[in-house]
Amino acid sequence: MAAFLFERLPVFPLLVDLAQPCQARSFFRSRGRRADAVQYVSAMAQHPFPNVDDFVSRNAARAADFDASGLHKNPSRKVAIVTCMDARIDVFAMLGLENGEAHIIRNAGGAVTDDAIRSLCLSQRALGTEEILVIHHTDCGLQNLSEDEFNADLEADLGVRPPWALESFRDPHDDVRQSIKRIELSPYIPETSNVSGFVYDVVTGELDPVT
Ligand SMILES: [Zn+2]
Repeated sequence: MAAFLFERLPVFPLLVDLAQPCQARSFFRSRGRRADAVQYVSAMAQHPFPNVDDFVSRNAARAADFDASGLHKNPSRKVAIVTCMDARIDVFAMLGLENGEAHIIRNAGGAVTDDAIRSLCLSQRALGTEEILVIHHTDCGLQNLSEDEFNADLEADLGVRPPWALESFRDPHDDVRQSIKRIELSPYIPETSNVSGFVYDVVTGELDPVT
């Protein structure tokens, strides 16, 4: 793969980062297709890297005429949304949400982990939410990923296996059902009468309800 990229792409400096062990290696292994690699590197080339100075500049421009003084810390629509960190999921656009309307709890896969439970507990008990949406999606980075291989890689690099589960899965619909079940079984989440699940299609933008 490295030789292929050396020959074809005029963005070698970026590949120094891609050549770093864990992230790039697992990215290319999981995607496995040259077209994806080219698309990924091309996208990186369109923006400065590291991003931080660009982000700070954009923030200053936004803050110049920003005013959210009318918003309360309690979400106005009394809803918390658990979803994946996937870069293609724009939660606000996906649901037509506005600033201040919902809690957004994101992690790899939108898994209902102990930490997601912690956030949902606070969301309901202290910040007034009463409804939960669990939204997983197609083409997730955790879908069909081998936890055994991932952990073996980590162990080879670090000498230890992680203390947490990676939460990989095969079927996103089944994974949503699993996540909802964890919410319903948690004693830390008092209100579970309005919990809904969906799989978001990252290509069409459609939400598929999970029953
Ligand atoms: Zn995902």
